[in-house]
Amino acid sequence: MYPDPSSRSAGLFDRACAVMPGGNTRLAVYQAPFPIFIASAAGCRVTDVDGVERLDFINNQSALVHGHCFPPVVAAVTAQVGRGSCFSGPTDTEVELAEALQARVPGLERMRFTNSGTEAVMLAVKAARAFTGRYKIAKCEGAYHGSYDFVEASRGSTPANWGDAKVPARVPYSKGTPPAVGDLTVVMPYNDVAAAAAILEAEAGELAAVIVEPIANRPGMIPATPEFLAYLREFTQRTGIPLIFDEIISFRVGFAGAQAGYGIVPDMTTLGKLIGGGFPVGAVAGRTDIMGVFDQRRGSPAVPHTGTFNANPVSMVAGIETLKAFDEAAVARINRRGDEVRRTIDGIFAKAGIEGQASGAGSLFRIHFTARPLTDYRSAYPTAAGQSAVAALHRALLNQDVMVSANCSGNISTVVGDLEIEQLLGAVTRALAEIRV
Ligand code: PLP
Repeated sequence: MYPDPSSRSAGLFDRACAVMPGGNTRLAVYQAPFPIFIASAAGCRVTDVDGVERLDFINNQSALVHGHCFPPVVAAVTAQVGRGSCFSGPTDTEVELAEALQARVPGLERMRFTNSGTEAVMLAVKAARAFTGRYKIAKCEGAYHGSYDFVEASRGSTPANWGDAKVPARVPYSKGTPPAVGDLTVVMPYNDVAAAAAILEAEAGELAAVIVEPIANRPGMIPATPEFLAYLREFTQRTGIPLIFDEIISFRVGFAGAQAGYGIVPDMTTLGKLIGGGFPVGAVAGRTDIMGVFDQRRGSPAVPHTGTFNANPVSMVAGIETLKAFDEAAVARINRRGDEVRRTIDGIFAKAGIEGQASGAGSLFRIHFTARPLTDYRSAYPTAAGQSAVAALHRALLNQDVMVSANCSGNISTVVGDLEIEQLLGAVTRALAEIRV
């Protein structure tokens, strides 16, 4: 059940609001009237500060592919902290994690670690600009690539301001974004080869990079069509523009990321979340020549990359243990569960006589209240009624102690079993019977 106003969560939120604007430092964790404060977690269950246990399909925005307190991660991190948590010197842990990633994914010829996915994207953009000597970045409408002005344009576009579907407006996501940022960000429609081509071909001479998520998470958890990614690969190869795949979320759908499933090797890849095993991390990786902009051995590097906590050994060992256990079999197992969840949710909607569906790929899912085909940001953009239905479903699931993100997206960790999948699907069935759409 959602905690009541006398709960410890409500009290903590009052205290939090007195010290932090909005009572938190992470927009995604807020929910009205107050967020549920967490006390602890283990496996696929989270316990709040009032002692209520819930089934977790958020897994810290997909960062915990083995759930909470995965024993090999706990052991490795505990041992590492005993040896020292960070040093002003490299450790073997970063070499080992980089080797493990390189062995899985063909295009990760060289990489550097950061503290977050946002930083990884910032660095990828910076590297591409330094490498090409150009400044414009092309991205897909509605795509989220972290909290970074240059990739935020159109992230929050609405029907009131998004303009022509074939030439989406470069709407700044946040107040305080200098207008010059919009001049340097090109927005293209997702999964529309002809429209994207018209925009990209015209901008080719000024583009430093094209960035795309193979499975567009925030726009609706919508996989790219093979044709769309094939076009982006062909265009960027022909024009010498680095193609960046943001696999910060989508990496989990394949042993070598989503890119392997499409048979495409991008020039650069950004990673985060699961590769840090639940600790702060990001990585920018790619072609040796492009990544060479960070190389200080030839004197001062084109792009000096510093950071007090980069490649910190605690995140590195957590990532190493996570990847070891995320083998082909584990990837296939959670992907099968994801297929089952999406298929069953589609069936629940049909049986309930409500228009809706589940999107996603592999172990990722998102629930929508529309039956129309979901191909891009606009087709997945909910109507006002759809938005209320998503909010009602989210609350109805929480009331049954099942956690998904506020937009009703979720992901399946390797520690989820048949019972938990049944619990999720049973909760969705009951919720759809109870909410008014
Ligand atoms: N890129 C994508 C596709 C993401 O989903 C996210 C975070 O959700 C980021 C970048 C930013 O990563 P971080 O939250 O670690 O800064």
